[in-house]
Amino acid sequence: MVTTAPRVIVVGGGAAGFFAAIACAEANPAARVVLYEATAHPLAKVRVSGGGRCNVTHACPEPRELVKRYPRGGRELLGAFHRFGPRDTIAWFAARGVELKTENDGRMFPITDDSGTIVDCLRRTADQAGVKIYMPIGVRRIERGEAGFDVEFTDNSVGEFDRVLIATGGTKGSAGQTIAAQLGHTIEPPVPSLFTFHIDDPRIRGLEGLSVPAAATSVPGTKLKDSGGLLITHWGMSGPAILKLSAWGARELSERGYKFNVVVSWAEGRTVAQTHETLIAARLANLKKQIATWNPFALPARLWERLIIAAGITPETVWTSVSNNSLHALATQVAAAEFTVEGKSLNKEEFVTCGGVRLREVDFKTMESRVCPGLHFAGEVLDIDGITGGFNFQAAWTTGWLAGRAMSGVEQT
Ligand SMILES: Cc1cc2nc3c(=O)[nH]c(=O)nc-3n(C[C@H](O)[C@H](O)[C@H](O)COP(=O)(O)OP(=O)(O)OC[C@H]3O[C@@H](n4cnc5c(N)ncnc54)[C@H](O)[C@@H]3O)c2cc1C
Repeated sequence: MVTTAPRVIVVGGGAAGFFAAIACAEANPAARVVLYEATAHPLAKVRVSGGGRCNVTHACPEPRELVKRYPRGGRELLGAFHRFGPRDTIAWFAARGVELKTENDGRMFPITDDSGTIVDCLRRTADQAGVKIYMPIGVRRIERGEAGFDVEFTDNSVGEFDRVLIATGGTKGSAGQTIAAQLGHTIEPPVPSLFTFHIDDPRIRGLEGLSVPAAATSVPGTKLKDSGGLLITHWGMSGPAILKLSAWGARELSERGYKFNVVVSWAEGRTVAQTHETLIAARLANLKKQIATWNPFALPARLWERLIIAAGITPETVWTSVSNNSLHALATQVAAAEFTVEGKSLNKEEFVTCGGVRLREVDFKTMESRVCPGLHFAGEVLDIDGITGGFNFQAAWTTGWLAGRAMSGVEQT
C-alpha cells in the first residue's frame, strides 16, 4: 500500500545505489527518486568487475552458508539474505531479460560474459522506473533540516529530501563516510581486504602464471588458514587460497604492515608425516627414475623441481639414492613450505575495502540508521566485505534492495 510520495535521494551511482533507486521507484511509483553520481561514469566498478564479465553473485542460496563468506557483516546479513538472497538476484535479472550462468566454482556471470549487459540492464531499468539521474554531480554536505535533510551539491545547488541513501562505496576517506560521521555515525577504519602477497623467493621466482588447484595456506601465530587454488604471480602469490586469507586477515595483516610469514601446503589436506610416507612409497615404486621426472602429487613439473632443490636434493638424483632425511625435507616443502611476505598488491580481478559505517548502528531490516532516522546505507560504505566470488555484489544488491523498499514508504510485507 502506498503511504506517501517521499522525496528520496540516492547518493552514489554504483551497484548498491542503482539497485536501491530502482527498488524504491518500482515499489512506489509516486516516490520522487533522484540519484546523484559524482563522476561521469556510473556503475564503473560493475563495468570493470570480474575481469570485464561481472561476477554478479554466487550460487549459494542458503543464507546460513552464504554468510560464512563474509569476514565482516556475515552476522548482520543473515536476516537480510532471507529477504533478498542470490535466488532473488537471479530472478531479478531474469525478469529484466538478463540470464545468469554458474561456473564450476559457483561464481555466476551473465551468459553474455560481458559486464556491459549488467550495466545496461541497471541503467535501462532505472530509466523505466522513473529514477532521475544527475551526474557528474557529487553530494558535498548533508544536514538534518526542519522536515528532512538539506543537501548541498558540488555544483553549489541545494535540495531538500525526506529520505537519504548513502551508497558511496568503500573508498578510503570517501565523502559518504565523512557525511555519515557528521550525522553521528562511527566509521570503522578502512583497510584493503582482497589483496595478493608480495613474495620474492627462489622457489617461485620466474614461475608466474603457474597454478595449483588445491593448496592450503595459513599464517603462523594467527588463526588464519584457508584453501583453494593458488596462483604464482610476477610479484608473489594470488588465487583464492591467498585472497580468502587476505580477506579474513585484513585487519590483522594490516596491523603487521603486511610483513608476515605464510605457510603453503601445495597438496591440500596432507600433513608433513603423510607426505613423507607417500614419498617413501614413491621411492620404492620408482627406484631408478630421476626424482625430478615424476611426483605423486600431480604438481606442475617446474614447481616440483624447485621444491626438490629447496629440500637440498639435486634434481637429477635417482629416487633410490634419496635419504629418508632428504625425503622428510622434501615433504616439508610440499606440505608446509614457509614463505616471507613483504607487502601486498591490489588484486586486479576484484578488490574491496573493509571498514566503513559501524554495523550495529544500522537496522538491517530497512538499512536505516539507528542514530539518524531517515538516513539509510547500502553497499560497501558499510563495514561489510565478502571473499572473492560474487559475494560483494550480492551484499550490494541485498542492502540496496532493502534500503530502496524501506525508503519507498510502501508497507513491507
Ligand atoms: C576491479 C574490481 C573488480 C571487482 N569485481 C567484483 C566481482 O566480480 N564480483 C563482486 O561481487 N565484487 C567485485 N568487486 C567489488 C564490487 O565492485 C564492490 O563491492 C561494489 O561495486 C560495491 O558497490 P557500491 O555501490 O557499494 O560502491 P561503488 O561501486 O564503489 O559505487 C559508489 C559510487 O558512489 C560514487 N560517489 C562517491 N562519493 C560520492 C558523492 N559524494 N556524491 C555522489 N556520488 C559519489 C562513486 O563515484 C561510485 O560511482 C570488484 C571491485 C573492483 C575494484
